[in-house]
Parts: sequence; structure tokens; C-alpha cells
Amino acid sequence: MSLIVVKFGGTSVADVDKIERAAEKVVREVRAGHQVVVVVSAMSGVTNQLVGYCNEVSTMHDLYEYDVVVSSGEQVTAGLMALALHKHGIAARSWLGWQIPFKTDEMHSKARVRDIETKHLLEALEKGEVAVVPGFQGVTFNNRISTLGRGGSDTSAVALAAALKAERCDIYTDVDGVYTTDPRIVPGARKLKTISFEEMMELASLGAKVLQTRSVEIAMKHGVALQVLSSFEDAIGSDMPGTLVVREDKIMEEELVSGIACGRDEAKITLLRVADKPGVASAVFTPLGEAGINVDMIVQNITSDGQSTDMTFTVSRADLERALKVLKDAKIECDEIRSAANVAKISVVGVGMKSHAGVAQKMFTALASKGINIQVISTSEIKISVLIEEDYAELAVRTLHSAYGLEEAA
Ligand code: ADP
Ligand code: ASP
Ligand code: MG
Repeated sequence: MSLIVVKFGGTSVADVDKIERAAEKVVREVRAGHQVVVVVSAMSGVTNQLVGYCNEVSTMHDLYEYDVVVSSGEQVTAGLMALALHKHGIAARSWLGWQIPFKTDEMHSKARVRDIETKHLLEALEKGEVAVVPGFQGVTFNNRISTLGRGGSDTSAVALAAALKAERCDIYTDVDGVYTTDPRIVPGARKLKTISFEEMMELASLGAKVLQTRSVEIAMKHGVALQVLSSFEDAIGSDMPGTLVVREDKIMEEELVSGIACGRDEAKITLLRVADKPGVASAVFTPLGEAGINVDMIVQNITSDGQSTDMTFTVSRADLERALKVLKDAKIECDEIRSAANVAKISVVGVGMKSHAGVAQKMFTALASKGINIQVISTSEIKISVLIEEDYAELAVRTLHSAYGLEEAA
């Protein structure tokens, strides 16, 4: 008897009807002889609403209590999923993060998984129960409620699959797999049968929210077999209808570019005329790091008089206000701090880039042909990202998708 973890995202549990349909898939897996752990998101829109409540109280709210508020959406769907399974005569019990316990670090609002106690869950499974776990939530070593960052239920599911040594982790969502780009932006995007962990990690971290980045990181590290599939089609995970995220050496045909990602969760900060001397970058980025704010793209340019530099970098939009406050408190020596939230990061990703030249040139030429201005560029071995004005994001994605010939074969 093999153990699988199945996760249903927000749109897949958006109302009681959909929860019942998701439960039917679980029932089919159980009847096929699997032990099943179900991870559920909050009903779609609920987490946004809960975040909104916190922001209404204060945009600088305390993150411990933010976690208490926003983790509550998943509790509701976990209970409802268990109830829906009972209707089919399936023994099911919900397990909140603290009951497992699903331990995380103290980085509230984007905590990292540290340790998952499997004893109780395994006992439940041995008794023939389905264990239903609310995604997104954990408990810190100080016994406070934590959450894993937006989209974190994917990470809950993969981390549980790794801890329980599950045969597979199926991520049910509202698309039937991973595509060459967001199919909602480019209807002609092509579904990939397989994608490497490395590419999926880049696409996810660059804005393809179909999987949370950390879930891919954990799957890669622990070799979790990960499938993305639709909750709205008839097939179940064991039919293997979705996209498999696999090791690079398992991919038969490497594509030059596998996908295009569009990240809108970006904000740009520019420090004008920062002193050009050793230690300045550290003075800027250390306090940001200590405040748990991730900095992404960075460019630094010497000013024309050679006396100082302009420093531009990006942070996630949700962190912008906090980042500006941290910089102000750090009393960085500079003329002015500017910020802009109307930016988007567009990236092309592909392992084939490692061995082929000309990918970047094609990107810049294609964007220039549409008059799209590039504000910042960053690259890694398998990706090139550019920061552009947000209004041009969709045009840029469509343009690049066709420039690299990624459309569905006619
Ligand atoms: P869930 O609520 O199930 O977690 P998400 O909304 O987080 O679902 O992720 C699924 C969405 O990801 C899709 O509806 C799609 O618009 C978006 N998406 C972005 N990039 C891609 C891609 N390359 N392939 C598939 N979906 C993508
Ligand atoms: N409900 C959380 C969110 O909306 C976690 C998730 O759905 O993955 O971010
Ligand atoms: Mg998601």
C-alpha cells in the first residue's frame, strides 16, 4: 500500500461543492488502495480578505498576530474536507499545524519548515484514516502559530510528502499542468509533460505562482515525485495526467527556453548618490536582511562625477513599506531614496541556455521591437530577467513567448 500526499489549492476548494468534488478524488485514490494525506488551501479569496483585515488595522501590523489571522482560512477547509470524506464512509481526521506538530522557524509570515513530527499522522494512516492537513500553517519552537508565505500550502504538501516518504505529491490546481508561460496571459501556451526541478524553481521564484518556490526546493532536495494537475478534470493523480517535475537528467529533450515568467510582486528602490566607499552595500543590505526582507535584482552605477553611486534593487511589493522604514532607520548616507511599485519582472528560463549563446540578445531585441524599456537586468546560468514598467508586462510575455517559438504546435 503506498502513501500519497494530495494538495488542493484555493480555487479547487472555493466552495462546498468544489470541496465535495475534491473529496471524490481522494475517495478514488483511497479505493485504489492508497494511504492519503490531504493538504488544503483556504477557499480562494479568503486569505486575501484576511490579509486585508490586518492591513485595515495597520499596514505595519505585528506579524505574529498576522499569522494567527491568516492561517485561519485553512482550518475551515480542512474540517470541511474531512466532513465531505465522511459522507463517503471514509474515516478522516483533520490535523492543524500545531497538532502534528508542523514546526517552523520564527520568521513570521514567511516561516521555513524545520521539522515535521510524523508519529501521529502515521498512526492515523495505519488505522486506515485519511489525514487532512491545513496547508500554509505551522507552529514555531516558541509555540506560536506561523505561516509559510503566500502560496505556502504547496510547501506544506511537499514537506509532508518528504517527511512521510510518500510515493508522490500531487498538486491539484485550476490548470492541468505547468505551461510554457501563464496560460491566462498567453492562451497558446504549451503544456509541458516534464520540467526539471531547476527550471521549475526559477519559474516559480520569478513569478509563475503555480508552485511556491520553496515547495520545489524541498522536492528537489528530498527527491519528492511532484505532479501538477487539474482538479476540474476527471483524471486523478494516479492516472498521471499532469506535468511531472523531475531531475534534469530525466528530461529527454532539453529545450533552449522552457518558459517565460512574469512577476508582479515587485517593487523598486533607488538610493541616489550613495557614498562610494567600502561597506556601503553592507550598510544597506544587512539591516534589510535582518528584517527578513529579501532583496532580489541589484544594480549599482557610479555617478558622472565619480564621487558616489546610485543603487537600485528590488524587494517584494508586500515588503516595500517595511524596507523603506528599515532604510530610513539605518540612516544610509545618500541624497534621496526613491521607490516605485509599478514594475514587473519578466524572465526567460531554460537549462539549454547553459550551452547556447544568443538567448539574451533575442530577448532584448524582441522587447525593443515593441518599444519596451528595460530598467534592470539580472542573469543566472539558466535565466535572464528584466525589470520593466508593469503596464507592459503582458505584452512583454506574449512577445517573448512567440520570439522563442514556444507556442503550441499547430
Ligand atoms: P492554487 O490556488 O491551486 O494554489 P495558484 O493560483 O496559486 O493555484 O496557481 C495556479 C495559477 O498559476 C494558474 O491559474 C495560472 O494562472 C498560474 N500560472 C502562472 N504561470 C504558470 C505556468 N507557467 N503554468 C501554469 N500555470 C501558471
Ligand atoms: N491560502 C494561502 C494563500 O492564499 C496559502 C495557499 O493557498 O497556498 O497564500
Ligand atoms: Mg498556489
